[in-house]
Parts: sequence; C-alpha cells; structure tokens
Amino acid sequence: MKRLTISIFLILTFTTSCLISKPENYWQQHVNYKIKARLDPDKNLITGSEILTYTNNSPNEIDRVYFRLYWNIFKQNSHGWKYAERRKMYARLARKYKGVEIKNFSIISNSKEIPIEYKIDDTILEASLPQRLKSGEKITFKIEWEEEVPPGPGMRTGVSNRCFDIAQWYPQIAVYDKYGWHTDQYIGTGEFHNDFGDFEVELEIPKSFIVAYSGELLNPDEVLPDSVIQNLEKARNNPEKVYRIADFSNREITDEDKTNYITWKFVAKNVRDFAFSAYERYIWDAVFWKNEEHPYGGVMIHSLYFKDNAKHWKDSSAVFGLHAIKFFSENFGLYLYPNAFVMSSYAVGGGMEYPGIVFIGYNITNSPYRGLFGVIVHELGHQWYPMMISNNETEFAFMDEGFNTFITTLAFEAYYGRKNNLLDPTKWYIRSSGLSTDERENNQRQYLMLAITGYEEPIATHADHWLENYPATTAFYPKTATVMFMLQYVLGDSTFSKLMKEYYERWKFKHPYPEDFYNLAMEISGKDLRWFFDQWFHRTYICDYGIKSIRSKKIQKDGKEIYKTTIKIIRKGRAVMPLDIAIKMENGEITSVNLPVDIWLNDEWENEIDIELPSKPTSAEINPDLRIADINRLNNTYPFPKVKISIDNTIPLSQFIAPIDAYSLKLRPSIWYNITDGFKFGLKLNGSYLDDVISHKFWALYGTRSNEIDFYFSDSRRIPFEISKNTFTEIEIFKIEGRYGGGFGFRKRFRKTLTIPPFHDLNLKVQLLKSTDGKYLDQIYKWDEKRLTRIIAGYTYFNYGEKWRVNFSLFFESSTVLSEFNYSKVYSEIIQTFRLPFGYSFSVRLFGGYGNGTIPQQAKFFIATSSPIDQFYRPLYRSKIFPADLRKHIEPFGGAGLRGYIDQNVSGDRIYSVNFELNLPSLLPLFGNLPIIGNLFKTTLFFDAGKTWDQNQRASLKGIKYDLGFGVRSTIFEQFSSMTNLFSEIGLNMIRVDFPVYVSHPINGEKKLKLRWVLGFDKTF
Ligand SMILES: [Zn+2]
Repeated sequence: MKRLTISIFLILTFTTSCLISKPENYWQQHVNYKIKARLDPDKNLITGSEILTYTNNSPNEIDRVYFRLYWNIFKQNSHGWKYAERRKMYARLARKYKGVEIKNFSIISNSKEIPIEYKIDDTILEASLPQRLKSGEKITFKIEWEEEVPPGPGMRTGVSNRCFDIAQWYPQIAVYDKYGWHTDQYIGTGEFHNDFGDFEVELEIPKSFIVAYSGELLNPDEVLPDSVIQNLEKARNNPEKVYRIADFSNREITDEDKTNYITWKFVAKNVRDFAFSAYERYIWDAVFWKNEEHPYGGVMIHSLYFKDNAKHWKDSSAVFGLHAIKFFSENFGLYLYPNAFVMSSYAVGGGMEYPGIVFIGYNITNSPYRGLFGVIVHELGHQWYPMMISNNETEFAFMDEGFNTFITTLAFEAYYGRKNNLLDPTKWYIRSSGLSTDERENNQRQYLMLAITGYEEPIATHADHWLENYPATTAFYPKTATVMFMLQYVLGDSTFSKLMKEYYERWKFKHPYPEDFYNLAMEISGKDLRWFFDQWFHRTYICDYGIKSIRSKKIQKDGKEIYKTTIKIIRKGRAVMPLDIAIKMENGEITSVNLPVDIWLNDEWENEIDIELPSKPTSAEINPDLRIADINRLNNTYPFPKVKISIDNTIPLSQFIAPIDAYSLKLRPSIWYNITDGFKFGLKLNGSYLDDVISHKFWALYGTRSNEIDFYFSDSRRIPFEISKNTFTEIEIFKIEGRYGGGFGFRKRFRKTLTIPPFHDLNLKVQLLKSTDGKYLDQIYKWDEKRLTRIIAGYTYFNYGEKWRVNFSLFFESSTVLSEFNYSKVYSEIIQTFRLPFGYSFSVRLFGGYGNGTIPQQAKFFIATSSPIDQFYRPLYRSKIFPADLRKHIEPFGGAGLRGYIDQNVSGDRIYSVNFELNLPSLLPLFGNLPIIGNLFKTTLFFDAGKTWDQNQRASLKGIKYDLGFGVRSTIFEQFSSMTNLFSEIGLNMIRVDFPVYVSHPINGEKKLKLRWVLGFDKTF
C-alpha cells in the first residue's frame, strides 16, 4: 500500500523506452490485375480470365506462389464447411456447390504462355515457379476459370432474387510479407489479407443489368442511359444535395435486354480488391461531396436499393453515406477513391465491405434501433480500416472491426448527439417507455456482459482460432471500441487525434501489424504504453476499482478551516488504469482528482490518497464519465451505489440497455385474480445489476375478496467467475395463495463454451414448503397440510445437431430435517426432437420416476398433469382461477402427460410414460399458405402411454393406459415475446387445445372414441 499526496500527481513525468519502428524498412508486394469476366445471370455462372503482374518487392527470392480460391468454401466438406459444422453454425453454408474450376494456369514469359503445375487444397492453390523470382523482379500469370455464384443469403457474397453481390471472386494471389506467405484457408470467420495494386476489369453482362463497382467506370456512354449520366453530372455540380439518378424498379425489360450482353469497363487504382453488384431494378440516389484536396475533386456517394425497401432507404441512405465519408475524412484521413457505393443487398445479410463498395442487408431499417445508419456508416468506415489502412484481418480482426466500431460510434455521436443516439424516438413505444441508450455505452455494456461470464479470450486472438463466435465478435467490435475510448482517455483527446491521423499518413495503402500501431502511439505520446496494450489487447484482465472509505478531519491551516481527507481506493481486477475521482462536498462544490496509472504499476491493490478540501466531503465517484470499462461500478461510488429507478415497461428490449453504472430498479403496478382472493392489486419490483450479476424480484399483492396480502422475494447472484464460472446462488421466500415457503440453492453450468452445446447444469436446492389453506385448490391438487422440507439435486443436459435436439434431466429429491414427511424419489426425463423435411418435426419424451416413503400428494406423480408443487410455480395453474367447468379441462403438461385422462387424473409413487408428437408446419399442411390462419395456428398429432402406481403395487406392463389425438396450437404469443415479457412471466406461452379422441381406459360409461378436449397455456415438451 502506498500513501500519496495530491501534489506528486502534478509533477509526475513519463519516460519512454519503446522501440520506434518507422515504416522505412517496410516493403510490400505489388499486384496488377487485368480481368475479363462474363456473368450469365440465368445460369448463375461466371467465366473469367485474368492476367496478373506480380512484383516481388521483398528482399527475398520466391520459389512458389499461393492463390486464393475463396468460393471453394461453399463446397460440401470444405474446411469452412467442417468448421461451421463443428461449431453448429448449420445455416452458414450452401450445399451442392461445384466450386471454382481452374481451366488454365500459366505464366507468361516472352509473350508465351507456359502452363505450370499446381495443386489445390480447398481455398488455396499452390504452384511452384519454374524459376525463382528474385527481389525486384516481376512475373505475369494467366489464369482462366469458371465458377458458380454461391446462392445467398450466404456469407459476404452471392446471388438472391437475381441480385448479384460479387466479391472474393477471382483467383487472388495470397499476401507475402515480413512473415512470409499467408496461406490460411478461408474458413469463414476470419476475413482477408490482400495486397494493394491496380485493377482493370471488363465485365460482360446482359444489357438489362445495372452495375456498381470498386473504382471508376471507363465507358459510361456505352453502358448507362443518358439520363443517368446527366443526373450524375447535376449531382456533381450541386454538392451535398441528394439526387435521384434513376428509378429502374418498374422499367420494361425486353427479351433482347436479357440476352444481349454489353461490356462494362472499370479501373480501380491502389485498391486491395475489386467487387461489384448487379441487378436489373435498382432505385439509384447519389450525392457529391466536394473536396479541393481530393485527387478526384471529391467523392460521389451512390445509394442503390430496391422498391420493397425504398421506404427506409430513399430519404436517408445517401445522407448517411455522405455523413460517413465526410466525417471520417475530416477526422481520420481523406477518403481517396472517386466513388462510394452503398448497395442494398438481397444476397448478403448484415453488411459487408469492399473497396469503394459496401453491401447492406436489404431488411435493415432505422427503427427501433438505428440499424440502417449504423450498418451503412460502419461498412463505409471500413474504407479506412482495412481498405486504405490494410491490416491482416484474418489474424487481427480488431484492427479493422474494432477501430471501425470506434469511429462508427463517433459518427453516431456527431450525427445524433452524444447521448441517446441509438434508439429512434419517433417510435411511440420508445418515446413512451423512456428507453434511452447510446452507442458508446452500448459498446461497453456488451463487453461487460461478456466479461462477467469469464468466457473472454484476448482481442488479438487469430480470427479463426476462437473457441466460439460470441466472445470473438464481442472482442473485435464493442470491446475494441471501448479500449480505443480508454486509449483516448489515457493519451488525452488531442494526442489521440494526432495518433489516428498519423496512423493514416504512415500506414495508408500499407499493412500495419498491431505492434506498428502500439509503437506509433508510444512515439506520438512520448509515453510507455506497453502495460495498456498488453492488458487490453493481449490478455483478458478485468478492471475493477472501488472506493473503500473516505475519512476527513477538520483542521486549521494558515488561519483557514480545511478538511484533511483520506480516500482509500482498492483495485480488485488485474487491469490498471489512471483514475479520475469526483468528490462532492457539503458546500455543493465538486472537485476532481486525477490519479496516474503509476501508483498501481508495482502491484499495488490499495492506495490511500490524502487531499485537503475546503468543505466536508459527502460523496465520491471513481471514473464519473464512464470512460473506463469497470466491471463493477456498484463500488465506484461512495457511500452508496447508484440506483436508477424506472417504470418497468415489460419490453424485453429494455434488458439489453441495462444501465452500466447503476443498480436498476424497475417497478410497476400489478394485478392478478383467483377465485378465492378475488382481484388482487399490488406492486412489482425488479432490481438488477448488469442483468444477472445481482438480481432481485419482489412483489406484494392484496386480495380484495380475502383481505390476504401475499408476497414473493428472491435474491439471485452470479459468483465472480474467478471463483467459479457460470455459478449462481439463489434465495427465495414467499407467502402466496395459502402456501408459504422459502429456500436457497445454487446452480452451476458446466460448459466449455458459452454458446455451443453440450451444456451440463447442476442444481442443488433446499426448500421448505407448507400449505395452510387448501381452499385455493381443487380437491385433486390439494396439498397435504404438513411441513415439507426437502433437498433436490439435479443434473440437466442439453445438446443439438443439425437435425435433432435433446434435453435430458435426472433429479434426486429427499425430505430432510424438520420435514413432517419422510420420503425420497428419483425421476428422469429425456426429450428428443427430430427435424423432418418440409418443416415437420417429431418429438419423443420418456419419463420415469420412483419414490419411497410417505410422499405428500403435492409431490406425487400424476397420470395426466404435472404435480401440484410444479403447478404452484406456474401462475396460471397455481390456484383456482377458472370456473370449475373449465378448470376440469385445464392441463398443465407433466407427469405421464396422458392428456386423455384429465378426468381420472390419478397419482402414484411411481411412474413411467412415453409421449410422441408429430408437429405439422401449419394448421393443415395444405392450407399453410392461407392468409392469417395459416400462420397463427399449428397442428400436432400425439400419442401418450404410461401408468402410475403405488409402493404397495408391483411394477408391470399390465394396465398401461394410452391415448391418441390431435391438437391445435396458437403461435401468437411467440410474436408478442419481443414486445413484452408480461405473457411469459405468467407462463402464457401459447394457447393449446388438444383433442385426445381415443383413450384406452375411458371413465365408466364413456366410449373410447369421443371428442374430448383439454386446454393448456404452454408447450407440452
Ligand atoms: Zn465490419
């Protein structure tokens, strides 16, 4: 522990001891592609030929070359296909795809074509050179190929609805740099690493198509209508005004237009790739950004979209594009290409970037999240990282995705304001609910939500070597953006801004590695920042500072009354940072203290700060501007954590915008009903910090008929991951509708990754339950009115494959001390679902249970329903709510699940059963396309068989009962689930009517075949 006084902070100086690597010894290879290609839109086929002139600028001799055939990833059993399968990303890859067929691979020497030998391993082609390529020499390749355009919506490129978004499409030479050849297979998560050069491209395509491209168009007169050329000229002459260039959405396309091919000619200079889009019915807007320093006098920003999303695009997409190009150029270096195409895409979901052209998923809108702004600006931000400042995306995705997320966040702030810039306030439910968040906070929240789980991996992990996607993308995008804000904090705004501009100046059209950025930051700032880059980019250290105590004493100094104050700061995470502390005093003033990082660099975990204040300190806060990503901000304020009280709007969305610096307390009035209590009124509170770090639930309700007050309270906490990952404790206590009880327990999830099963969960719970008033319940579900204390230990398992999913559980339950019952039981359930063709699915459930001792009625196994204790936890079944005539048809699924036996729902100490369900994709398969009805209901055919018996009976196959029938399920509540969690909270997930038309053992006097029905409010299994 170090004792510091405030004066020393001001005279601290920094020394630098870093190696400065200037890109003077830097070299990179040069490429020059001349490509001729023909796209046949009817066959989805590209035939191409390219002449590549490759210059060896390295000091080394090269004896072999590698080329990339990216589209081979779409072939069945490609490395990427297997990778996706291992990671259970089944939707990722197309099937039955031919791949890239190389027709000719030669080098051109003295104007002669000499075919050379090569071998292809999936997305990598390797060829030995007949002669070594010496330093400074050039070599020319000629390659001819044919390939099928992959069907979208796929990954980054493809065709859908005759809309072609074509990228990674020609045999491309791999990068050879200071680390040698980069021969990583393209397997889907990691992106690209390409050399800079010039492209000349000639594309043959039917006349009916409009093409957008990287670079410049050389022959507009030959391929574009005059009106388009004139409108583009108008836009150029009236900068920053959006023009409708053309609307091809309703134009007539003749057979001749479809069969006559024309040639579009392009040139793209100093680019690392060439991509294009082609579609027959674009609507086309453009706006020109004029800039005297720009090599082309400015940038034409084009936005091309479809009739069916014109509503969202027409007034905004070009404006968003202009904002991005202008804002980034002014702050991070000039955009140096002549055009920027923003393409609405049917073939690419989300967004994807290539030089001068970006693809944006067609269904992205600006409401309720400002997704359209976010995606357009983000994809254009990639023109800086990595299109101009070209890092190796495969190895260090944070240098493109993360740096870009950071500048995208700043673009949000410049356009919509620093605060509340993420949600569209013109939507009534956003406005009325008071939801508010901003992109900067959102980045940090996403990082913190991952960090608390302990499943982080270092940001600088190779993009294809992450264990799973969620921590990868959280690290590349929002965490890196958050780290960049921290770097800005550590360096100060002006030094940081100098750094980003110098990074552009030194590294544009080059390949920086992380160390180049780190070294530049240290050079520009004159600070040793190795601690910073190491802990944030290469480790998963967490940052957690807290104020432990503040003591102050009134003293006289120089004839004045002052308060000698000592603040004790603790560090609980391994990451270190400089800190700001805001101290509020009795006189209302706030003073700020800055603590340099140096006070933590010698492994200090506590520091005491002495400071003299003019008035008595009343409260203090570390990091009040929230720039540091502190994992627990409840200890950042003294003496109390911040609490943010709000009305609970029940929108699930609000959970994703939980405050990052305060305990959130949401309240709302609550209303309920049952026959005994009558209408019940009260209040419901939901408290939490970062969703599940701490969470509290409390409600109290007053029954107007019974004058009873009921309540429920629970406290659940996540154990810090350093002690035990994925572990939660829970305490609950309640008095509800004639029953009271409480308990405590813990739950641990064992999983190798957070998102890819198999998942194994262990639960342990000790519980007391007692019924004091049976009038709330129907006879059959009445509880035995003695005290039950029990311990339950359970194991659950979950897994899925491409066509199946399985849930397994095994529970032991036993009465324990203080129990007036003495029993034990074990029960187990397996549910397996198989996906069948045409949207059908088939599910099987096996259930068995075995009990000994005096099992209370509420814990027995029932033939038709779940047990009364289970029903207690499902509010709609908890007590008598419905009139007796209806109630006798209501079936909370569980037990043996023989829904035809609801009127003879016997219980026993032992049970076995099997249930089958065949789920149809709609109400009736033939009527699936009926408007409204076809989508609102689905049909299920079922068969159930099983029996229950008591301890004094023998187990046998005799007397097995069974039923069969069909059921109709509504799907409407699934649609509500994104708007409110009110329904799921009371267990109303669907309305299900099952008709067990045949039962093997009908009640006396009834026929086996009869129209019976039962009603349920949730899924069966
Ligand atoms: Zn991106």
